[in-house]
Amino acid sequence: MNALLAATATREVQWNVPDGLVVFMYASMAAALAIFAYGIWRRARIWRLGRPYSVRGRPWLRTRRMLAGLAQVTVLRRVFPGVMHALLYYGFLVLFAATVMVFLYDDLGIDGVFEGDFYLWFESLTVDIFGILFLVGAGIGFYRRYVVRPAYLARNEPWDALLLGSLFAIALTGFGLEGIRIEATADPWASWSPGGNVVAHAVSPLSDGVLEDVFPWLWGLHVLMWHVLLAALPFTKALHWFTTPANLFFARPVAPRSVPTPTDFEAEEVRLGIKNASDMTWKQLFDLDSCTECGRCTSVCPAYASGSALDPKRVIIDLRDAIRARGLAAEPLAGDVVSYEALWACTTCRACEEACPVGIEHVPTILGLRQNLAMEQVRMPGGVSDLVANLEAREHPFRGATAGRTDWAEGLDVPALGSVAEAGGAEVVYWIGCAAAFDERAQKIARAVVRVLRHAGVRFAVVSSQERCNGDVARRTGNEFHYDLLARENVEMLNGAGVTTLLTHCPHCLEQLRYEYERFGGRYEVRHHSALVSALIEEGRVRLRPGERERVTYHDPCYLGRYNREFDAPRRVLDVLGVERVEMPRHGAESFCCGAGGGHAFFDETEGPDKVNQIRTREAAATGATTVVTGCPFCLTMLASGARAVGTPERTLRTMDFVELVAEALDE
Ligand code: SF4
Ligand code: SF4
Repeated sequence: MNALLAATATREVQWNVPDGLVVFMYASMAAALAIFAYGIWRRARIWRLGRPYSVRGRPWLRTRRMLAGLAQVTVLRRVFPGVMHALLYYGFLVLFAATVMVFLYDDLGIDGVFEGDFYLWFESLTVDIFGILFLVGAGIGFYRRYVVRPAYLARNEPWDALLLGSLFAIALTGFGLEGIRIEATADPWASWSPGGNVVAHAVSPLSDGVLEDVFPWLWGLHVLMWHVLLAALPFTKALHWFTTPANLFFARPVAPRSVPTPTDFEAEEVRLGIKNASDMTWKQLFDLDSCTECGRCTSVCPAYASGSALDPKRVIIDLRDAIRARGLAAEPLAGDVVSYEALWACTTCRACEEACPVGIEHVPTILGLRQNLAMEQVRMPGGVSDLVANLEAREHPFRGATAGRTDWAEGLDVPALGSVAEAGGAEVVYWIGCAAAFDERAQKIARAVVRVLRHAGVRFAVVSSQERCNGDVARRTGNEFHYDLLARENVEMLNGAGVTTLLTHCPHCLEQLRYEYERFGGRYEVRHHSALVSALIEEGRVRLRPGERERVTYHDPCYLGRYNREFDAPRRVLDVLGVERVEMPRHGAESFCCGAGGGHAFFDETEGPDKVNQIRTREAAATGATTVVTGCPFCLTMLASGARAVGTPERTLRTMDFVELVAEALDE
C-alpha cells in the first residue's frame, strides 16, 4: 500500500500498524477512487455535450505534440517555471511508479518486484533522488508564487497553495517514514537512500519505542493525504495532469489557426456565437479543464500589458469555474462571466496560444464570445459599429468612396484583372487590400511593390477595382455575417476570373486568401510580398545598390508570423539590403503585437492606460535602430503613430515596409 511500509516489510521488520488503521486506509482508498471516478464522469458529461469538433488529420504531428508535452518539452520553453514543473512531474512519476510496485508486492503479494540490485538501485536510490527533486520543485513553486509573485500568477484558484502544499507534505512524510525505518532497523543499505538517511540522522535521538509509536500514525497521515488528493483531483486544476496530453493531441495542428467556429447562416436555428457553454465545441470545453494556471498566456498578452481588462488566463479560469458551478446553461458568458471590456480588448495576436504549453486555443473562444456581443447583444465599441456601417455601405472598412479603390495606382498604368488570360498570362495577380486602396501611407507600399515587380520583369495584373474587403476585420470583430457575405463575393469573383495564384502585401489578406476562404471554395496559392521579393532577389531578377548601413529592427506582424509562420523571408531581404539588422527582445514567434489586430486598427476604446503600439515602439527604439521595418500596412500605421507618440522632436523612429527599402535601393 505504501512504498515505505512495504520496504519495512521487505526487511521483515514488524511495525505495529493497527489492523483497524489498515482497514480504514483501504476504505479511504475505495472512497477516493469512487469520488475521483465521479469527478471525471461529471467533467466528461460536460465535454460530451459540446458541439462537434473534428480531430481528423495529421495524426503523427498530433502525436509528436502530445509526446513533447508528456516529456515536458513544451513547459521547458521557459526555463525557471519549466524546470520547476519538470521536477514535480518526473518526481511524481517515479514516486507513483514506486508506490504501484509496492502495492503489487505488499498488497497483492506479487513476488520478484523488490529483489536484489533492483531494490537498491530503483526503490532506494532512484526513488530517493527523485523524491528530493520533487521537494525542490515544490519549493521553487512556493518561491515563485509567494515570494517572486509575478502578476500573471496572482489570482490563481484558492486550491493552488493547498495542492502544492499537499504534494510537498506527502513527499515529506514519505521521507519521514523512510528515515524512521532506517534508524529503527539500523539499515545496512542506508547510504542508498540519501534523503531517508538524512531524516534517520535527525530522528536518531528518539527512542525505538517512540519511533515505533510514531510510524503507524505518520504512515496513516501520508496515505490519507494521498487519498484526499486523489479524490480532489477532478475538482481542481490538478485535473490537467490527465487532460493536457489529450488536449495537445486535440489542438488544431495546422492552419487556419485560431478561427472561430463557422456559423451556418442557413440553419434553422442560427447560433450567434457563444451565448452559453452549449454553444462551445467539446474541444473548447476540454480546453477549460486543461489549464494549469501557469499564466504564460497572460504574461505575453499585449492587451494585458497595456493595462486593459483582458487577462487570457482569467478568461479560461472564469469560464471553467462558471460552467463547473452553473453547468451548460450558465449565461450570458459574454459580458457577464467575461466582461465586455476584456472581450473587446483582444487583438487576436495568438501570443497566448503560442505561449500556452498545453495547447489551449484562447482566440476561437474569445471570438465566439465576441460574436455573441456583436451579433446578438449588439454591444460593440463605437469604432466597430462605424466599420460595420462602412462595410455595409461601401464593402470596405475605411472612410472614402469605393470608387477611389484604384487611386493608389494613378499614373502607374497597372494592368487590371479582367481575366488572367486578358492580363496576358500574368505570372502574378496582385491583391491590393483595402489599406493600400484607402490609406495614403499604405498606398506607398503598393506603389513600391509595383516598382519592384516592374524592375524584376514580372508580368502581373492587379485585382484592385474588383476587390471587396477580405472580411478579416468583420470576422475578428465578431461580425461573422458580414464576413460571410464578403468572403463569398470575393471567392466568386476570383474563381470567376480563373485566379489560382495571388500576391499580397497584407498579412490579413494573406490569411484570408490562403486559408480561411477555403471553406467557401476559394483555393489559391498565395504569396506574401516578402516571399516573392526574397525569391526574386535570390533569382537575380532584382538588382540592388549597396545602401547606407543604417540600423534597422524588424517587427513581425502577428498574421504573417504566428498565423502564417513566415519569419525568415523579410529578414533575408533586409540582410541582402546590407542594413545592420538588430532584433527586439520579443521577435519571431514570440513577437509582441502592434495593437492593430482584431479590428483594433479601427477602435481603441477598450485599451488600457498604456497603448500596445507605444509599448512596441518603445521596444523598437530601445534597440538603437533608426528605422523599424515591418511587412503589414496595419502594423506600419500603428508603429508610425507609436513613433510619433514616444519619439522626440530630435529623434523619431522611421517606419517602413521592407519593400519600400527595396524600392529605394533598386539599381535602375
Ligand atoms: S490573442 Fe493576443 S490580445 Fe488576445 S488574449 Fe491572446 S495574447 Fe491577449
Ligand atoms: S491557458 Fe495555457 S498558458 Fe494560460 S494559464 Fe492556462 S495553461 Fe497557462
